[in-house]
Amino acid sequence: MKDITIIGGGPAGLFASFYSGLRDMSVQIIEFQDKLGGKMHVYPEKIIWDIGGVPPKPSYEIIEDIVAQGLHFSPDVHLNERVINIEKFEEHHFVVTTASGASFHSKAVIIAVGGGIIQPLTLEIEGATRYEVTNLQYVVQSVQKYKDKKLVISGAGNAALDWAVTLAPHAKSVVLCYRKDEISGHEHMKEELARLGVIEKKRTVITQLMADATGQRIEKVELTQGDTTEVIAVDEVIISHGFNRDASLLDQATIQLERYDDFYIQGQGNASSSVAGIFACGDIVKHPAKVHLIASAFNDAANAANLAKQYIEPTARENGRVSSHNERFKEKNKQVLQNYL
Ligand SMILES: Cc1cc2nc3c(=O)[nH]c(=O)nc-3n(C[C@H](O)[C@H](O)[C@H](O)COP(=O)(O)OP(=O)(O)OC[C@H]3O[C@@H](n4cnc5c(N)ncnc54)[C@H](O)[C@@H]3O)c2cc1C
Repeated sequence: MKDITIIGGGPAGLFASFYSGLRDMSVQIIEFQDKLGGKMHVYPEKIIWDIGGVPPKPSYEIIEDIVAQGLHFSPDVHLNERVINIEKFEEHHFVVTTASGASFHSKAVIIAVGGGIIQPLTLEIEGATRYEVTNLQYVVQSVQKYKDKKLVISGAGNAALDWAVTLAPHAKSVVLCYRKDEISGHEHMKEELARLGVIEKKRTVITQLMADATGQRIEKVELTQGDTTEVIAVDEVIISHGFNRDASLLDQATIQLERYDDFYIQGQGNASSSVAGIFACGDIVKHPAKVHLIASAFNDAANAANLAKQYIEPTARENGRVSSHNERFKEKNKQVLQNYL
């Protein structure tokens, strides 16, 4: 039995893990994806500006820092586990069950599931998955990877257009193909694509991926527009067809929480929920003062850990001691200070 089960290993869950550790609580994090970091993995190459005091840098660098902090107090981490139920057996005893049949017991639960489980819509071409480890991507990891490469981007949504515009100045060539007649409502974007020399192919879909001699990489793609097909050489293929979102956990869980808009957990301005012992933080929470930002997830997470601490131990302090005055960092600070000597 752990003190806290945290469902979701995004920014909110990870800071809740750190703050729970700071408050001497044992933690287990349950995360569906095969890695921690939450939906920041959807936009790893984007530059983040709006985390207070953090200089602008790519999302993937911020993920590394957030994950390191979340693991600081050595929580148990269970990846590739989709939580399908939350039950309250009795006061101070919750059971969280996953699709694999595993169950996790704890005295309190922090829900940090963001907008649910997000997975890219994949290319429905037989055998496509084998190229995912080489040159077929659903998310742009870094601009560098595409430098001087011949790219095909499939999709007409904001992300596809953003990637075309971001990568075009660095790539050798960019072909943007999409099923629609037109990329509607993006006048400025259309001008930008033309200015950057992006070759637009309307009403066109990828119908075949052709491997090189090793069979490991895509060498050519077949594009089809109506009855016409053409084959073009590529170095990298990027598919941006949107995301599937599974947010069914809170609809189906035994424990029913008060919701907002049939989706969010109704918050009170802090991280409490309508069930004692269950707390919520990050994007899944809604209240009048809530801002759906990474920075706001941190605030929620500290609230969630503080409330959980008091739920488990009613005589505990309301808040954790700030880190600069916190005894538990005394020894660690000596190591950190070495960097400044
Ligand atoms: C394209 C894009 C750009 C953004 N840019 C910025 C920005 O510049 N600045 C900013 O501050 N914010 C930005 N955001 C918002 C920011 O990413 C979110 O506010 C933040 O990620 C919320 O963190 P979270 O931990 O609440 O949720 P998430 O990051 O969504 O993490 C939730 C985690 O819970 C897991 N999970 C969900 N359901 C289950 C389940 N049933 N079982 C197990 N695990 C589950 C998910 O797999 C996920 O890992 C952006 C968002 C997007 C989509």
